[in-house]
Amino acid sequence: MRRRRPYIVLNPVKFATTPCPPTPVANAAPYVTATRNVRRTDTQASSTPLALHPDRFFDPDPSIRRVARELFEETRHLPLICPHGHVDPRVLAENRPFPEPTAVLITPDHYIFRLMYSRGVPMESLGIPTRDGTATARDPREVWTTFAAHYYLFRGTPTGAWLDHELHDLFGVRVKLTADTALHVYDEIAEKLQSPEFLPRALFDRFNIEVLATTDAATDPLDHHQAIRDSDWDGTVVPCFRPDALFRIASPEWADAIDRLGGVHGTSITTFATFLDALAERRRFFASMGATSTDHAVVDPYTERLPALEAEALFARALGRAATAADQRRFEAHMLMEMARMSTDDGLVMQIHPGSLRDHHDAVAARFGPDMGADMPIVTEYTRNLRALLNAYGADPRLTLILYTLDESTYARELAPLAGHYPAVKLGSPWWFHDSIEGLTRFRQQTTETAGIHNTAGFNDDTRAFCSIGARHDLARRVDANFLAGLVARHIVDTSEAREMARALAYEIPKATYKLNGVSRRAEHSGAHIASLEAVR
Ligand SMILES: [Zn+2]
Repeated sequence: MRRRRPYIVLNPVKFATTPCPPTPVANAAPYVTATRNVRRTDTQASSTPLALHPDRFFDPDPSIRRVARELFEETRHLPLICPHGHVDPRVLAENRPFPEPTAVLITPDHYIFRLMYSRGVPMESLGIPTRDGTATARDPREVWTTFAAHYYLFRGTPTGAWLDHELHDLFGVRVKLTADTALHVYDEIAEKLQSPEFLPRALFDRFNIEVLATTDAATDPLDHHQAIRDSDWDGTVVPCFRPDALFRIASPEWADAIDRLGGVHGTSITTFATFLDALAERRRFFASMGATSTDHAVVDPYTERLPALEAEALFARALGRAATAADQRRFEAHMLMEMARMSTDDGLVMQIHPGSLRDHHDAVAARFGPDMGADMPIVTEYTRNLRALLNAYGADPRLTLILYTLDESTYARELAPLAGHYPAVKLGSPWWFHDSIEGLTRFRQQTTETAGIHNTAGFNDDTRAFCSIGARHDLARRVDANFLAGLVARHIVDTSEAREMARALAYEIPKATYKLNGVSRRAEHSGAHIASLEAVR
């Protein structure tokens, strides 16, 4: 029998300032006692109807709001381009019904459970699977009720806006989610999830997704992608090549990653030259499976081309399990150069996601693993760090380099000037904490004047929560419509220019930037769809 371990202890001082009675939760399990100091303020709203305002997220100024409505009408029905995200391809390969609401909406979504955790709700009580054998809540209805009792925490957050959209538009829920309505809403969603209209492929079609990219380890055999391609379903799902684990030579997991690479490559990796050969071959394999991009997560976007002997020596040290953190930093800098070089050869678009200090909370990482809402932004420097790469490849027409950031202070100071000069550079859409109403707005405000919109890469939902895709694109398209409407109201652009810009941001720019033209197995259908929209105008 597994020994039950204690929960990760929260700082009692933090919660001592909000004394109030225990939260009455139906079927309360022992876990829920840890939430007793969390104030419950949702009773008044318990039977309120759930409605989405048609002008949500638009400026209250009538001159902006009127144009924002018009511009949003221009884009709301365009197909969704989803060029970067973390949906598990197995979901679409198997096309099985989603099990029940908690497994769909809560357990896989760290945007949701991180905020509840920050307010004293143990992740164990939300049924998040553990690695160390600690018991977790097993009854999904109980987890859902805990979630509903804390739904008020999401007011004013993009997660709250996405959830309301999902509940209302996707699942047809018409009452606000509270502790009192929790089980009624749960049953309503659970019933729908069992119907054919809520199978993953049916939802993919309902969201009007033209193409969806997943993110896959470089050593992944892409079996689920193959199964999708072999099926009679014509939705377009493509992989993205992510080799990070192979570049982290100081990590204890590196040796396993190299063994996996040798396994899929068919020969053991004993030299740096064979390592590069294997990477180039994996990239070709990914491209043959529809991939158009690579993705690289690094702490700093530091680049430097090392002398051949030093690269070989670092690799040998890694094979001897003696590589240090300093070795890894230099090796990653060199490998970003190599990835850019290979992109000029095979045409894969290169994405860099720097500036996330992953797994900041050691105890949470030990118990639950990665992607648990504890990846924290750090100050990030681009201009000096990327200088070597951009001098080598930044003007090469074969390279597209998409830069993301979690450091908003870099938008106007570094990123927009870099994208406004180097032909290869495009700015990726705001990510993690910043794909919000205000975050998307700040991005446009701080980059457009220097880089224009055509040096940005368009929106991506970056989500592992499949059911939130429609809601996330709806929010982004509304925010961009509102930003452009502000330009119209101040006579910076006219309405017809803003219409073109809205369409470009929502559809044409992401499709072109990530080289997804011609990838869709339904391209003709989409073309017809857009032509019909043109005819309506
Ligand atoms: Zn991502």
